[in-house]
Amino acid sequence: MSKKLSVYSTQASHSGQMIQTDAANNFWEQIEYAYHQNISFLGTGGGHGYSATLDTVENGIEIDLGHFNTVFIDKDANTMTVGGSVHFANITGLLYDAGKEFQVGSCSCVGLVGASLGGGVGPYGGLHGLQLDALQSVRMVTGTGSLVNVSATSHPDLWWGMRGAGFNFGIVTSATFQVYNFTNNGQAMSADFRFHASQNASLYEFARSYTGKLPDAFSIDIAIAYNEVFGGTYLFANFIYAGPLEEGMALIQPIIKLGPFDQNITMIPWKDIETSSKFGIDALACIKGNFHSVWGLNLYQIDVPTLIDAVSYMDTVYAQYPDFREAFLAIDMYASRVIESVPDDATAYPYRNAVARFLLDVGFPNSSFATAASQVGRDARSLFVPTSGASTSNIEVYVHYGHGDEGQLGWYTERKLPRLNALKNEYDPNKLFSHYNALEATYDVPK
Ligand SMILES: Cc1cc2nc3c(=O)[nH]c(=O)nc-3n(C[C@H](O)[C@H](O)[C@H](O)COP(=O)(O)OP(=O)(O)OC[C@H]3O[C@@H](n4cnc5c(N)ncnc54)[C@H](O)[C@@H]3O)c2cc1C
Repeated sequence: MSKKLSVYSTQASHSGQMIQTDAANNFWEQIEYAYHQNISFLGTGGGHGYSATLDTVENGIEIDLGHFNTVFIDKDANTMTVGGSVHFANITGLLYDAGKEFQVGSCSCVGLVGASLGGGVGPYGGLHGLQLDALQSVRMVTGTGSLVNVSATSHPDLWWGMRGAGFNFGIVTSATFQVYNFTNNGQAMSADFRFHASQNASLYEFARSYTGKLPDAFSIDIAIAYNEVFGGTYLFANFIYAGPLEEGMALIQPIIKLGPFDQNITMIPWKDIETSSKFGIDALACIKGNFHSVWGLNLYQIDVPTLIDAVSYMDTVYAQYPDFREAFLAIDMYASRVIESVPDDATAYPYRNAVARFLLDVGFPNSSFATAASQVGRDARSLFVPTSGASTSNIEVYVHYGHGDEGQLGWYTERKLPRLNALKNEYDPNKLFSHYNALEATYDVPK
């Protein structure tokens, strides 16, 4: 994200819908001012978007939605209404205490609304679908300055577009989501392992064997990383099972038999999945202000030879660039039965049929490494493209894992674009919301 932003925090109150309405009107004045002064701006929720397209906000205004931070849980209705900037860390404990659960992602400091507007994938997505499938309504200011409620019955055309491309049409001040009663009494098995890089083929073969048939409650996350203490390049893997320990242990027996050099298998409350799993990497992932070059790709099959090549590739990168040793290359696999039970044309989200996602995060110490980091990311992605199983020649990527150079076709697909572009013309005709993997925008992001 550009460091050239100045923060203009909306002075919304912490209490109540009425005052939030006023605040929404106030911050529309800020948007109008920015628009007429030709100053680019960006509304930020969790502040964790990492697309390089965010760098197009130069000398602009960041409209920090941080005060839109209310959380209201209706236990009887099984709903949760949150302000537009609420982070996962703000909801998990409250939901757990209310005896409810939600489909969390992998990082507690990500914005719930920001993530949901593009999709929202995570371990409990196997049980409950995408985060955007849990959305019931949003209250938002559109690009034409209208403050509207959007749902299946109010502006249904926009409702379709909000779920998959929502950040293109305005700023959501509050959103209501469905929440769920506990699965397995709110407890999940979290199993973390570390493996020597030489064991990668067996680990990836295990993941491949579950292609398209993961049990709803089971998820797999495998990453290539580097640590001097562990002998350099190694792999870490996390398996979440939202069910009894014995069942989870049975699922991961083949993994234990592989002989990891480190393991931690525990039952944890679901609310701690983001903060405790993956050996607690969340604390590092949530540090803001670091430099990252992030690259992603949808996978429609698990190609083990490609993953083996990726381990060798990362090994070379870690050797060549000691400054990139915090980089990790991950694949996440979440069960897709429930996600695919929602018809493709019900929402703008285009990739319900992906079986996994590739994600490479190259962290680096300062801007002088940006070009090299981009090169590493581009080369790694190129490794995966030929065997991803995509049915088009576009770089198909879950919009929130996009680097920023994939373009509209890659983020939204040819199938969805005509309808999305028509919505853009209607609800944001002046293209105010065009700094994040946007419809109808062209970017000069690092090539
Ligand atoms: C460490 C890390 C882990 C992640 N893990 C996951 C994961 O497990 N699953 C997953 O699906 N994604 C994951 N992501 C991706 C994440 O969903 C996106 O980065 C998302 O954009 C973050 O939203 P944010 O509100 O934090 O970001 P921001 O930078 O604040 O926003 C990103 C974009 O969304 C817009 N936006 C944010 N809030 C609003 C709002 N209220 N109304 C309108 N537009 C808004 C912003 O204007 C901007 O265009 C992860 C990202 C990181 C950095």
